[in-house]
Amino acid sequence: MTQVKQRPPLPPLAGHYDHRCGAGAGPSVQTRLQRKPERALRKINAARCEYRQKKGMKQIFLGALYLVVVALPLAVSWIFGGGPRPWRQELATGLGMLAFAMILAEFVLSGRFKRISRGVGMDVTMRFHQIMARTALALALVHPFLYGGTPAGGPRPWDPTRILSVTTDFSILATGIAAFVLLPSLVALAIYRKYLDYTYETWRLIHGIGALLIAGLLLHHTIYAGRYSAEPQVMWLWIAMTAIAVGSLFYVYLIAPLRQLSRPWYVAAITRLSPKQWGLTIAPKGHGGMAYQAGQFVWLNVGHTPFTLHENPFSISSAPAVGPDLSFVIKELGDFTSSLDQITVGDRVYLDGPFGHVTVAGRSEPGIALIAGGVGIAPLIGILRQVRLTDDPRQLRLIYGNRRADQILFRDELADEDVTYVVSEPPADWHGHTGLIDGALLDDVFTPDQFRDWLFVLCGPPIMMDIVEAQLMVRGTPSDHILSEKFSYD
Ligand SMILES: Cc1cc2nc3c(=O)[nH]c(=O)nc-3n(C[C@H](O)[C@H](O)[C@H](O)COP(=O)(O)OP(=O)(O)OC[C@H]3O[C@@H](n4cnc5c(N)ncnc54)[C@H](O)[C@@H]3O)c2cc1C
Repeated sequence: MTQVKQRPPLPPLAGHYDHRCGAGAGPSVQTRLQRKPERALRKINAARCEYRQKKGMKQIFLGALYLVVVALPLAVSWIFGGGPRPWRQELATGLGMLAFAMILAEFVLSGRFKRISRGVGMDVTMRFHQIMARTALALALVHPFLYGGTPAGGPRPWDPTRILSVTTDFSILATGIAAFVLLPSLVALAIYRKYLDYTYETWRLIHGIGALLIAGLLLHHTIYAGRYSAEPQVMWLWIAMTAIAVGSLFYVYLIAPLRQLSRPWYVAAITRLSPKQWGLTIAPKGHGGMAYQAGQFVWLNVGHTPFTLHENPFSISSAPAVGPDLSFVIKELGDFTSSLDQITVGDRVYLDGPFGHVTVAGRSEPGIALIAGGVGIAPLIGILRQVRLTDDPRQLRLIYGNRRADQILFRDELADEDVTYVVSEPPADWHGHTGLIDGALLDDVFTPDQFRDWLFVLCGPPIMMDIVEAQLMVRGTPSDHILSEKFSYD
């Protein structure tokens, strides 16, 4: 039975290492650093600052780009539109336009565009997608009611361009009314997806077709009922924005799969690792494989053509340094993951990826803390393997929690590593830590300096991640020293 491995004595701490960008490095905290001359420390500090600044800049750039995109129709309408109208009408139209622009932006916030998800992280991208969908819904629902009191009906002699009245022509309003009904249904179906009795793939199909339909309906409504769209500049802007949004969907479901066709993979090995966890290894067929960083994930499609909705995200558990083959640790959960026993060596596989920002490449923290719950070990073992295979000098420590002892994977491989095993339902002969990964355990394993200086990489059940993140915050770990991957976007 695996025992709690005694961690080697921590290096003596000396002085304080200054994290501030531009600050000279003071005396070091780690033995490794102590041995380095001050110049090396300054280099590490500079690299860390550069990394933070680059990441911060990217986030600011993406945030600003989003604001520009959703505000663009308002700005163009303001520049090219007619004279001012009563403020309520302007507000009603403005909210409607903002809602439509936000809905169109949702298409590229689907998580399938690496430039976006790599910049801010996949979790943040998906959360933003969800929050903005709800915000757009609120704006869209309010918008028609603000027209209350505006003259309605046919054209008036004093208002030949219908700038001061709203139309009651049903053929023009019908598309807006249809979108008004469909949009809440689409958002509600996404929020309550788990409670409904259909597969994830069916939901994805409904979500995609629904979004496409709503974009088309809103484009018609905006151009024919929207008064600012009478200006050609405004009308063409809406058409261009809708084309980009719809085009992004075609890219994901048509262009990207077409590219996958020329880069197939095949199943090289499939093994049961524990009662409910499998190890899958795939190899490239006729190409050199995929460039990725340890800890990233791909959308995996086994046994289908690339033009399918049957693809699932899985973290890569192998290390790039091993070679082109990719390995995965997969836990049985639903339709696909419970049918892994039907996969055979040689089966055709297609991949979309790599995605994800949970990687330690390019980071300059002196140590890496890996904290895994259950199958959350998948990306973390990949990181550990890469660190070892590349003789990376950073210190490494793993906390690995499971419900049962027979769920623990890679014991032999981890035998020489600094691992703290935790089991919440231990067998009678278990001598290690018991219970959950909590604040007390973290305090036991890490020193105050490690909390402050190390990089913490977490992957596991949401409750574990919440507890660990809360404790790290309490212990003063800077938020940009915490990387986490959630296995669910709900
Ligand atoms: C970034 C990321 C990395 C992951 N890495 C791993 C891993 O290394 N090992 C592992 O065992 N699991 C991992 N998962 C979880 C894994 O994707 C799901 O368990 C799997 O997709 C379930 O598919 P199913 O058909 O068996 O179950 P289903 O019953 O179809 O789905 C169960 C739940 O899994 C999620 N899911 C299913 N299909 C998709 C999809 N196409 N896209 C997004 N979510 C989906 C949904 O929340 C769904 O409700 C990861 C998830 C994410 C988001």
